[in-house]
Amino acid sequence: MDPQSSQPRSVAVVGTGMAGLVTAHLLHQDPQKRYRVTLLEKRDQISLSAESIAIHSQDEKNSPLWADVPMRAFAGGFYRNLIQMYDYLGVRYHAQSFLFSFTKLPRKVQEISSSPLKPSPIPGPRMVYASNFHQIPPIPRTMDLVQWLLEAAYALLFYCWFTICCFFVAPFPEDPQNGTPSESLDHYLRRVWLPQSYVTDYLLPLVSSVCTCSHEEMLRFPASDVLEYKRRTHHQQHYVVSSGVQSVQGKLLKGIDVRLGVDLTHVLPQPDGVHVNYSGLKGQTVSEHFDMVVLAVSPDIAAKLFAPLQAQLTAIPTTSVETVAHTDTTSVEPMLRATGSFFSNKLPLSNATNFNTQRIHLLSTDSTTESVHEQSNSILVTTNPLFPVNKAKVIRSARFTRVLRDSRSRLIVNSIFRDRSQSNVPSTCDSSYAASSSWRSGDDGVYLAGGWCWDGMVLLEGCIVSAMRVAADLDVRTPWDNETR
Ligand SMILES: Cc1cc2nc3c(=O)[nH]c(=O)nc-3n(C[C@H](O)[C@H](O)[C@H](O)COP(=O)(O)OP(=O)(O)OC[C@H]3O[C@@H](n4cnc5c(N)ncnc54)[C@H](O)[C@@H]3O)c2cc1C
Repeated sequence: MDPQSSQPRSVAVVGTGMAGLVTAHLLHQDPQKRYRVTLLEKRDQISLSAESIAIHSQDEKNSPLWADVPMRAFAGGFYRNLIQMYDYLGVRYHAQSFLFSFTKLPRKVQEISSSPLKPSPIPGPRMVYASNFHQIPPIPRTMDLVQWLLEAAYALLFYCWFTICCFFVAPFPEDPQNGTPSESLDHYLRRVWLPQSYVTDYLLPLVSSVCTCSHEEMLRFPASDVLEYKRRTHHQQHYVVSSGVQSVQGKLLKGIDVRLGVDLTHVLPQPDGVHVNYSGLKGQTVSEHFDMVVLAVSPDIAAKLFAPLQAQLTAIPTTSVETVAHTDTTSVEPMLRATGSFFSNKLPLSNATNFNTQRIHLLSTDSTTESVHEQSNSILVTTNPLFPVNKAKVIRSARFTRVLRDSRSRLIVNSIFRDRSQSNVPSTCDSSYAASSSWRSGDDGVYLAGGWCWDGMVLLEGCIVSAMRVAADLDVRTPWDNETR
């Protein structure tokens, strides 16, 4: 509440991904009603579930089934705040086990023809791994037993070694005294003597498909991100929202003023608040005043919108990732056959939600991995496709910006979100951005939220943590957080 006028303070939350929706929800539900929230989105629909696919069911209720694109899976241990929020909102989710197949592609992928007329030259998988060892994985039919046993022993041995390292060999932290950044994943894996072949054939395909980036980009991540993720999700169950994230979206949006089709161009701090500029219907620039603005957008967009952050945020790496939902099984036929997938048996399309194991096929070169996720409703979702997908079989194709991490961007993010009691910017090896990084989230009436706005892998948990931080900065308690309740 504005103490002068006892009117609620106006807050523009920009972006309708998970971070924007949760921030808007938290401020809107403030028991003291101190904030009037307007949610602004450049698309013509709420973006959290914009690419999810509704599949018509033939059950008596005729309610659609949802395939989330991209996948919005989460796991116990790592996603503490997301799970608490889902429980508080009454969102239904169910346990989901995965079966991963690992296939190494010949060096020159482009030489591989995926023509449906020829037998596929793609080799079958060399290994199948069941998440949390929940079942004995099938032996790929493409390998003989002795070959498979040797490969399985090799993969298991180094999986165990990597797991032990995650728990007992800490990554090197940054050293501000001599200007050393925190240890990269690449450096860490070499230091613990994990063989290169295990790294390129198993570890990188798996973690780079979680972060949807190339192997090289993945190796630049701070080692602490990957180790923390592994430690916290070790032996934890994975889950997915039973009726898709559109059900979360509906609950978070209740009562909030949403404006779609508002493409912001500038965010300009003023002595008495913040002006946001966007294009009006006739192409004219519209300027609107708010007391505060929360930018729940990716850092490249925030850098363009808000000049004081340009220098810092342009140093945060991002990539563009393509996801295609389709029914073209051509390039993964050997994996489907080898893992006994119901797709390969041409079973009739199932209308019932399949709570059983889902298969994820990882097809890797030395530098990148395509992941093909078999949805229970007979849809394949390919991320980072290496092979052309038959256009006639494409249901939906979308591009997403994915925020990446490296040791330098980690310092930038930590500096932006450092505690208000720390007045000084931590000294770092790179003074070029340290000089410009005195800005903290909340300065000038501008706050940041997003999957990237915390010290960890860029996933949904970061969206919730950063939204809760904005709420805490504005003295709003988070109803699902036991510590503030
Ligand atoms: C292929 C893929 C698979 C993934 N799988 C998982 C998973 O299984 N589990 C998991 O936890 N995470 C997963 N993630 C990561 C997770 O989805 C993201 O971290 C999260 O969605 C980021 O949400 P956000 O709210 O920070 O940003 P975004 O979802 O990017 O939202 C930003 C919003 O800002 C809007 N916007 C941008 N510019 C403007 C402007 N100028 N004016 C107004 N609005 C603007 C955008 O339209 C968008 O609505 C996956 C990501 C991808 C790409």
